[in-house]
Amino acid sequence: LDDIIEPVKLTKKTSYQDVGGLKEEIRLLREAVELPLRYPELVQDLGIKPPKGVLLYGPPGCGKTLLAQAVAQEVEATFFSVKGPEFLSPMHGQSEKRLRQLFAQAEKKAPSIIFFDEIDAFAFDRSRATATFEATLVAQFLSLMDGFDRRGQVVVIATTNRLDILDRALLRPGRFDYRIRVRLPELADREQILRLHTTKMPLDEHVQIQELAEKTSGYTGADIAALCAKAALIAVSRALGQDMNRWPAALDKDISSRIRVTTADFT
Ligand code: ATP
Repeated sequence: LDDIIEPVKLTKKTSYQDVGGLKEEIRLLREAVELPLRYPELVQDLGIKPPKGVLLYGPPGCGKTLLAQAVAQEVEATFFSVKGPEFLSPMHGQSEKRLRQLFAQAEKKAPSIIFFDEIDAFAFDRSRATATFEATLVAQFLSLMDGFDRRGQVVVIATTNRLDILDRALLRPGRFDYRIRVRLPELADREQILRLHTTKMPLDEHVQIQELAEKTSGYTGADIAALCAKAALIAVSRALGQDMNRWPAALDKDISSRIRVTTADFT
């Protein structure tokens, strides 16, 4: 059976405002992706070729996917999202075929962004490849990237948290010309991420976001999102009453007004 690659419908509207911190990363992404997609004639008049690929690298959970979704939605590009490990089909030639389908679909539905999560799953240094299919897959990927017409308005955004093991050929000019490091959030970034993930919460007046930002040194954005979600659930649970067997069958307004997320809930 042919598996047809379909674009991903992004149900939740993600914009740059939904990304906490990462201002320089957003600026670079807009320059590399948004500018050429939005103003192709400007770029053409300058006689230059816009980047075909952007590599986002850094530790997991720091907003790489979020950034790619935000840029795709801001430019209203068709978004194809795939994961590197999905292409590790041991069936001879299957993965190469899927890759070709993916690029063909993206060109057809342009302007498009192909989001390749964990590209290192197959695009690692070929001398490390354990099977020939892995090596031919990298070769196929490179030839597809070289092959598509830049005016075709297709951009590949790939992520990795192992820049060190990537096949160096990916980094040659004309491929991933923009490489953007997405690092662990610093204090000011953590404060913004905390604010984003608590905007809808009824926070107790004693909750100091600044203080929470200081306490969460070393946390990724994903860790902070999880911390906030847990805090909210603890607060809701408290409002409902500690005895779970006596939780009401239906909610009344009174309960929602009793929810208060306190500092102690962020543990
Ligand atoms: P992975 O490498 O594991 O795919 P990633 O870097 O792509 O990780 P995301 O999937 O973008 O990380 O982040 C996971 C979740 O963490 C997001 O959906 C979001 O809720 C939260 N998050 C991470 N970074 C940020 C950020 N900078 N601002 C707001 N939320 C963030």
